[in-house]
Amino acid sequence: MAKFVLIGSGLAGGLLAAYLGRRGYDVDLYERRADPREGNIVGGRSINLAISTRGIHALEQIGIADKAMEHAIPMRGRMIHDRSGELHFSPYDVDPKKCINSIGRAALNTTVIEAAQRYPNVRVHFNHKCTEVHLESASAQLETAEGVITARGDAVIGVDGAFSAVRESMQLKIGNFQYDESYLAHGYKELTIPPGPNASWSMEKNALHIWPRKSFMMIALPNPDGSFTCTLFWEFEGPRSFATMKTDDDVRRFFEEEFPDAVPLMPGFLEDFRNNPTGSLVTIRCAPWVYRDKVCLVGDAAHAVVPFYGQGMNAAFEDCVVLDECFDEFPENRDHAFSEYFRRRKENADALADLAIENFIEMRDKTASKIFRVKKRLDHALEAALPGIYLPLYTMITFTRMPYAKAAKRAHIQDSLVYSGLFLIAAISVGAILWLFAT
Ligand SMILES: Cc1cc2nc3c(=O)[nH]c(=O)nc-3n(C[C@H](O)[C@H](O)[C@H](O)COP(=O)(O)OP(=O)(O)OC[C@H]3O[C@@H](n4cnc5c(N)ncnc54)[C@H](O)[C@@H]3O)c2cc1C
Repeated sequence: MAKFVLIGSGLAGGLLAAYLGRRGYDVDLYERRADPREGNIVGGRSINLAISTRGIHALEQIGIADKAMEHAIPMRGRMIHDRSGELHFSPYDVDPKKCINSIGRAALNTTVIEAAQRYPNVRVHFNHKCTEVHLESASAQLETAEGVITARGDAVIGVDGAFSAVRESMQLKIGNFQYDESYLAHGYKELTIPPGPNASWSMEKNALHIWPRKSFMMIALPNPDGSFTCTLFWEFEGPRSFATMKTDDDVRRFFEEEFPDAVPLMPGFLEDFRNNPTGSLVTIRCAPWVYRDKVCLVGDAAHAVVPFYGQGMNAAFEDCVVLDECFDEFPENRDHAFSEYFRRRKENADALADLAIENFIEMRDKTASKIFRVKKRLDHALEAALPGIYLPLYTMITFTRMPYAKAAKRAHIQDSLVYSGLFLIAAISVGAILWLFAT
């Protein structure tokens, strides 16, 4: 049986190790951090995430969806907070059972690692940092407390996130490797709304809360202990930005002006703002994701996207499903399995990258407008009237496993038809009115 060296036991690394372990492959999974069960696994990343159909399907395939979803909190729609504190709820789908789910990153990471460790042929090594990969020999250099070691396999898979060391080795050693990284002008900072009395939620629990403020926004996702994790997405630089918040008074004034209904619920917002890191938001596109039958990239290492469609992890999990399908279809030809995986995923990852950036504008700006809410109602009315024929883009991305690129194309065609139809109806109505007046 082939031996795989996996670099990175984050969300996709743990899950992929479980998939490979189930196939009977020999797997060594190396992670630079300590065992997440010893605490501090998040390391500046989002504390909770939205998981939806694609991610849940990937967990189901390996039999851990029920365990992973045990403490997940369904979010049925967006709860929009305007500046006056007024609330508007906009459901995600016409079917109230369709929801996204807030799930803790740490617990989910532990669940996938433990799923991998069920297989005796999977070994997980923490505190091993990959510094370089040798492509031809499928071996990785790893820094450990005892010194540098070399891990050899038949193939190395880089599941080591947006700043992947495996990808960097490919970039250095593959002549025509294409690489593009682009940063948003916005960064993000996490803040907390603590639990209310008796571990209750001080806002609607089953919603994703959004404070859209045109060029920036804050969102909040519920946690099982009654708290909410808020994330402020804001420009790094500019007249009013992270850079201009010099004192606690600046921060207090900004929050009181922009999020007046949230401030009373966030007694520690000044400390959070001061102490929590400001993260950056990067989109990474590269090609190829594979080198012969020796090296492969999965998850953020291959295609980091900004978080505004809530799909980065879902897509990373979907990669694991597709790679597993390719191993199933080409069991004797890893070279083919890898290149087929790349072929099936690349255009979809690119489509998701575009959708995620577009959705930032929708969330921070359009959700605040009445036109947005009318458009959502029209979407839902069409979906109800034409079941299976008309599917809103958000529904296709979030509640189906339709390839991302196909969903984007289909939404484009649907929009053209709907807007032409509306234009035609309007033109006929005006024509009819004019005719009535003329006769
Ligand atoms: C603010 C924010 C909110 C988000 N919200 C959502 C959401 O709601 N829904 C969603 O689907 N996605 C969301 N995402 C995206 C999601 O976090 C990522 O897509 C997901 O974590 C990718 O999983 P991964 O396993 O590929 O990478 P990661 O989770 O980053 O894991 C990579 C692992 O590799 C390890 N590693 C890195 N370098 C090395 C090395 N040199 N040697 C050894 N180990 C290494 C890291 O320590 C880590 O454990 C969000 C992202 C951000 C930043």
